[in-house]
Amino acid sequence: MGVDKITGEARNITAKISEHYVDNARKLPWRIPPQLSASGILPDPYHVWLSEVMLQQTTVAAVIAYFKTFTARWPTAADLAAAEETEVLAAWAGLGYYARARNLHKCARHVAGALGGSFPERETELLKLPGVGAYTAAAIAAIAFGRRAVVVDANIERLAARLFAIATPLPGGKADIRSAMDALTPEVGAGDFAQACMDIGATICTAKSPKCGICPVQMHCAAYAQGDQESYPVKPPKKAKPLRKGRFFWIEQGGQLLLVTRPSKGMLGSMRALPDDGWAASTNGHGEPPLNGDWQVHENVVQHSFTHFSLEVDVAVYQGDMIAINKCDNDKCGNDKNDKGQAGLGNAIWWPIDGIEDAGLPTLFTKAVRWAVKRKREV
Ligand code: SF4
Repeated sequence: MGVDKITGEARNITAKISEHYVDNARKLPWRIPPQLSASGILPDPYHVWLSEVMLQQTTVAAVIAYFKTFTARWPTAADLAAAEETEVLAAWAGLGYYARARNLHKCARHVAGALGGSFPERETELLKLPGVGAYTAAAIAAIAFGRRAVVVDANIERLAARLFAIATPLPGGKADIRSAMDALTPEVGAGDFAQACMDIGATICTAKSPKCGICPVQMHCAAYAQGDQESYPVKPPKKAKPLRKGRFFWIEQGGQLLLVTRPSKGMLGSMRALPDDGWAASTNGHGEPPLNGDWQVHENVVQHSFTHFSLEVDVAVYQGDMIAINKCDNDKCGNDKNDKGQAGLGNAIWWPIDGIEDAGLPTLFTKAVRWAVKRKREV
């Protein structure tokens, strides 16, 4: 079925998806159950915004614990705004895509300050907030404020592409998918409708082996009728990711590990981390250590996949004498990069290895730390 032929069936499809949601909605800590939302009770916009930012490129299962931690520690946007950025980044550690956490904090400060503590209701105003793109603006407007907005996330994209057998490869096919969802989105209850579609996409119309036998819109589904559900959405051919090499430096003494704060600009900016050799998305690291002395190098002990490149990491373990790391008083080893592109040691701190899981390290560095701790136990 082409998008132009949807209109006649739209009401039936929308009704079936909405009915299915009443008894099958996933229970998620940021949601209001459909029985309550039907009587006009809407969720806290702060909860909707926080969950939607966390859910960008992250699974629901991974987000639930973080959402609970954040809302227990910072129950309102004003509480989050009052936190230090480093605290927010540390609490975010493990969720990845750390620009989201920096924008989250900026956005909380803007809402708590310039907007007097209230999120705007309209998509156009929401779009002006740091870290809020078209999808998130539509989701907040619909779910938190009951406005009609067309919400299209990856789950909904898959559901719509299959329902209407939209054959234009992504990203070109996004316009047709949006038109299809526009035709289906009701005037009232757009938030619950969006969440109903998300749930079907996540639990029934899954990327692999969709459960068409229990799908409430099976009889309307063009991909099901063709028998080629998994061909949709049509994706462009995958480009090979470039492979970069980097090196982390393990400097330990007296049960403590040397950590630095990464440069404020660039990947994983302002996060606590092991010293490294200045690797980046566009370049390999130079391999040079931040201290003279003996180093034992273990090659390729961590592999990590970023969106646009993969990284192989060596870990170099310092074998030299005990060292004193003091605050540095020149620019080259301050908070930002030194002359080798590394995070300088001027901001270094010693962190107890026993409590390293509380240091708020990004996942990439946590992998290296876990490897090194395991190795220490084995030797
Ligand atoms: Fe997805 Fe199958 Fe339902 Fe079609 S019938 S929408 S492919 S689950």
